Amino acid sequence: MRSGKEHGVATETPGQESQQTLSNLMSETRRFEPPADLAASANVTAATFEEADRDSLAFWESTADRLTWARRWDTTLEWNAPFAKWFVGGELNVAYNCVDRHVEAGLGDRVAYYWEGEPEGDSRTITYADLQKEVSRAANALEELGVRKGDRVAVYLPMIPELPITLLACARIGAIHSVVFGGFSSAALKSRIHDADAKVVITADGGYRRGKPSALKPTVDEALEECPGVEHVVVVRRTGQDIAVNDRDIWWHDIVDRQSAEHEPAPHGAEDPLYILYTSGTTGRPKGILHTTGGYLAQTAWTHHAVFDLKPETDVYWCTADIGWVTGHSYIVYGPLANGATSVIYEGTPDTPHKGRFWEIVQKYKVTILYTAPTAIRTFMKWGDDIRAKFDMSSLRVLGSVGEPINPEAYVWYRENIGGSRCPVVDTWWQTETGAIMISPMPGVTAAKPGAAMRPLPGISADVVDDQGNSVPNGGGGFLVVREPWPAMLRTIWGDDQRYIDTYWSRFDGMYFPGDGAKRDEDGDLWLLGRVDDVMLVSGHNISTTEVESALVSHPKVAEAAVVGATDPVTGQAIVAFVILRGSVEESADIATDLRNHVAKTLGPIAKPRQIMVVPELPKTRSGKIMRRLLRDVAENRSLGDVTTLTDDSVMKLISEKMPAAK
Ligand code: ATP
Ligand code: MG
Repeated sequence: MRSGKEHGVATETPGQESQQTLSNLMSETRRFEPPADLAASANVTAATFEEADRDSLAFWESTADRLTWARRWDTTLEWNAPFAKWFVGGELNVAYNCVDRHVEAGLGDRVAYYWEGEPEGDSRTITYADLQKEVSRAANALEELGVRKGDRVAVYLPMIPELPITLLACARIGAIHSVVFGGFSSAALKSRIHDADAKVVITADGGYRRGKPSALKPTVDEALEECPGVEHVVVVRRTGQDIAVNDRDIWWHDIVDRQSAEHEPAPHGAEDPLYILYTSGTTGRPKGILHTTGGYLAQTAWTHHAVFDLKPETDVYWCTADIGWVTGHSYIVYGPLANGATSVIYEGTPDTPHKGRFWEIVQKYKVTILYTAPTAIRTFMKWGDDIRAKFDMSSLRVLGSVGEPINPEAYVWYRENIGGSRCPVVDTWWQTETGAIMISPMPGVTAAKPGAAMRPLPGISADVVDDQGNSVPNGGGGFLVVREPWPAMLRTIWGDDQRYIDTYWSRFDGMYFPGDGAKRDEDGDLWLLGRVDDVMLVSGHNISTTEVESALVSHPKVAEAAVVGATDPVTGQAIVAFVILRGSVEESADIATDLRNHVAKTLGPIAKPRQIMVVPELPKTRSGKIMRRLLRDVAENRSLGDVTTLTDDSVMKLISEKMPAAK
């Protein structure tokens, strides 16, 4: 992978001229005020921000006080930069906080999860009382298999109820889970099992994807050929496919079902590890991010309550992410359950058995809060506006977005077409590393701008700095940083403190550097500009891929776009764009010229792409992010870098074939 240095980004001070370019690029003027009724009863008001500004540690203590502690902490924060410890001396059990305490409070009949399988009619309703029994049985089973506090458990499951149950069972006994996406290859699974030295693997025979059973177990078998440290493989029967049964294998129903439905949750230290999760690998080799117990749960629970304005008695919340991604960990499992929320979990793909499946689910469960990703939103735009019109989505009241910068056009489409022009859209910026949402509009407070993540959450000291680490003034662009530690922050990279220091704490002295570029507009609001590795340097101007992509998506014929900088003898780098057209649009001979002119008109001639290619699909990670580094390889006629985290590698073949030979 190439460094930012070669792109002329990370090590060069942006000149006056390029800063100017950055601030001219985004001239979005639309604003959406919070709905009056939502604002009137919102969980968070301007006063919350003031409170956190006055005393951020006291604010974080108030978030921790929303949890039930077996022993209260002695010290709120111990900060030996860059190593943080939060709520030191405190003890709690995460599973107790997510499940048992709600049952004890008389809420056992409340639905924790409406689970919707991909095959229609295959669904389950799981109350908090049900969940308590299931988690206890699973915890007893893990203990019978010899799993103890601190042991690592690899989890390779489809989106079925056993997935959150497994995570909670691990948390209950203090075992560290390491979830690996169900779509990853055996090589990816093997490297993650090795890296974490997992003792047990929990998997299934398969899951349902795109209308048919898709096998998981053979991938595990292949991975385990070289994993002698794994003692047991627990297999959930989901699809009933034929599988090989090896000595280490045991069926979930054989070991879990016969266990007692009672299990005493032992208290764990606030800083005891909760899980390891590998980043999605958009930029290179995945990093094993380590999260711990007390601070993580406090912040995920509070942000879920705040950013989505969750009212657990009445809301039905649906986050469409896979639990194999951090969004699923924090906002399908830990945050929502700690808050006693009712959530939907859906196993399958949005187009099975028809392209209205998501909206059918919203209608069926009367979903009030929907949290999804720009990649999904752009896919729905591509499919056309008439599909969702067939469903009643009037229950929705708050919409969220996460994973990539959301193009203003996609934001407005989401707001109007899915949210009926009445639901606020919260564009939430965060990472596997941050554990919880860091920058986002608040639905009852913020007059949101389409495409902007707006302001840091209470207690979060995010800033935009120049190359020297100085705050940029309003209207300036540069590097996103976080100046102070936060409770859900990663504690290290598993087994590699040095990589932790080098990756996040070495670019700017004393500041956390997430790797993303950002702009602070004239009002002081934040716009995320994508990864700094993706910023292009064209004739001495820094141009972000995000801005050019948003300009392309603002053309009525374009559903999705990915832009990269390719080496160019004249301009240093030249812009190469890959676009997907909207559903009903035919590819015409002059489309490339049209789009090049459209970008020039929207952003200025400097941002005009050298080349535009119409493609059927874009290379994406399993979590739906565009992998620009692979497109850069194509644009520069190089062989492709690491493709192991790609959803579908045939996409790259289709794109490479369309690419004319090198200039
Ligand atoms: P790797 O670090 O291995 O390359 P990754 O960064 O894709 O993988 P994640 O932690 O899942 O793995 O993604 C976090 C990144 O996603 C952020 O750093 C940012 O680039 C992007 N991102 C997430 N949410 C937003 C958002 N709302 N706006 C802009 N970018 C976002
Ligand atoms: Mg990352």
